[in-house]
Amino acid sequence: MRGLLSEVQNPEKTVTIIGGGVAGMSAACALAEAGLRVQLVERRGYLGGRASSYLHPGVDEVIDNCQHVLFGCCTNLIGFYRRIGVADRIYWTSEMTMIEPGGRHSALGPSRLGPFTLPAPLHSASSLLCAKAFSVADKLALGRAFAAMMRPVPGDSQESLGNWLRRHGQTQGALDRFWRLVLASALNADLDSIALPYAAKVIRELFMNSAEAGSMGMSTVPLSELYAGAAEFLSKNGSTVHLNASAESAAWDEGSQQWTLTTRSGTLTSEFLVLALPFEATAKLLPHMPPADGAAALGRQLERHEHWPICSVHLWFDREITTLDHAVLLDREIHWLYNKSRLQPWRKGKGSYVELVVSASRTFAALERQDAIALALRELAEFFPEVASAKLEKAVLIKEMRATFGVPPGIDAARPTSVSPWPNCFLAGDWTATGWPSTMESAARSGHLAAEAVCKSIGQPRSILNPDLKPQGLMRWMNRGNKERRKINALS
Ligand SMILES: Cc1cc2nc3c(=O)[nH]c(=O)nc-3n(C[C@H](O)[C@H](O)[C@H](O)COP(=O)(O)OP(=O)(O)OC[C@H]3O[C@@H](n4cnc5c(N)ncnc54)[C@H](O)[C@@H]3O)c2cc1C
Repeated sequence: MRGLLSEVQNPEKTVTIIGGGVAGMSAACALAEAGLRVQLVERRGYLGGRASSYLHPGVDEVIDNCQHVLFGCCTNLIGFYRRIGVADRIYWTSEMTMIEPGGRHSALGPSRLGPFTLPAPLHSASSLLCAKAFSVADKLALGRAFAAMMRPVPGDSQESLGNWLRRHGQTQGALDRFWRLVLASALNADLDSIALPYAAKVIRELFMNSAEAGSMGMSTVPLSELYAGAAEFLSKNGSTVHLNASAESAAWDEGSQQWTLTTRSGTLTSEFLVLALPFEATAKLLPHMPPADGAAALGRQLERHEHWPICSVHLWFDREITTLDHAVLLDREIHWLYNKSRLQPWRKGKGSYVELVVSASRTFAALERQDAIALALRELAEFFPEVASAKLEKAVLIKEMRATFGVPPGIDAARPTSVSPWPNCFLAGDWTATGWPSTMESAARSGHLAAEAVCKSIGQPRSILNPDLKPQGLMRWMNRGNKERRKINALS
């Protein structure tokens, strides 16, 4: 059934989007809203891509392939959730608890003076200064590094975060408990494999620009339930979702100005095509696209990307092992704890379900299932003594070997814009040029950018990309100063 919007605006324009991850879904919904008829094509039997959930037959539970968190600064992901009507399913918090082996807690979060939050960037400074997890020397080192990160970092800097931290005299405690744990795991790579501009962006957004930008969101429903909203939105707007339809090749007909996409379950024609695939799937499709100038160069860009794994251990106990919703676990292989029973209170049954996440985890990912679960349990008991007396009822280990792409120095040269080598065809996917690391926000941004490009080429340009949050407090002035300095540098 075709919806009102599409009847009124562009009923004759059809776009096929390959890939039902966040990039493909956000492009599809924005274009359906703009009045195009969208055909969203997904290889699997469900939407979500690398951020999805499914019924795990081994434990008879619907679980996410891994806990996915977002932040207040993820304006395009939040915009996509708003568009499909699921933004109220995200639980937001600004509190973060760091726990040392042995159980000592340090609470991080925006600091208040009576009813007021301290102005950015001081809002996050005082809880860091009071954190027992850091020695005085660690705090001084972190303070120096944060102050230095307030100055502009050239976007084309070829320096790695690891090298920059060595130049800025970071202590072992600051390196292990902040930079490796909080930052490298947010970017899912080793410190030496992270380009400085990406690190600076994450630090500014999560800790400096505003309390809102740094607040953390987690879904209160399984991820695929969020995307049921996308499928519903598309159907209401006259668009279709084709599941279990792996794209095999695409052909462009110059005469009719149409694309024909061949999938395992049939062919689809459209005026426009958006490839919203991960980099390795784009590379696989490349030989089955029409010859075009620039296709070989795109192929060389795709070859430069590298995957980083993320592992998650899902544990069901016969009782509650902690009343915390989530925590950062210090000095061990396991990094993050998410108390799914508390975050998703609709989950039935007594006892509790917790998920442990191990980022940038090449060593952990090499472990056998039993060894990985045993190690996770042993370490968890060091943080929560209740684990020793609780009965483990079931456990799942998920290794995502192709979780994210890395952002080493120089990677921007391998991140194309939405423009593709082919006519009426655009690129999306978290790996394209969004300025963001491999995240759902990068995927949503890429989808919105591709949708803008499609609208522009039908002669109906519209602004779809959601703007960034404005820095608050002192960061407003800092930002202004940085802009002025950039202008002066550009003139000189
Ligand atoms: C374990 C793990 C933890 C993560 N944690 C976070 C987190 O906490 N926060 C965060 O922001 N990000 C996180 N990420 C990253 C985030 O999931 C990705 O950046 C984002 O989902 C990528 O979306 P995408 O649409 O670009 O790609 P994908 O999600 O990979 O979507 C591409 C889609 O294309 C489909 N496809 C592939 N080939 C074909 C074909 N030939 N025909 C049709 N369809 C095809 C795939 O099945 C897939 O559905 C995590 C990722 C993983 C794996």
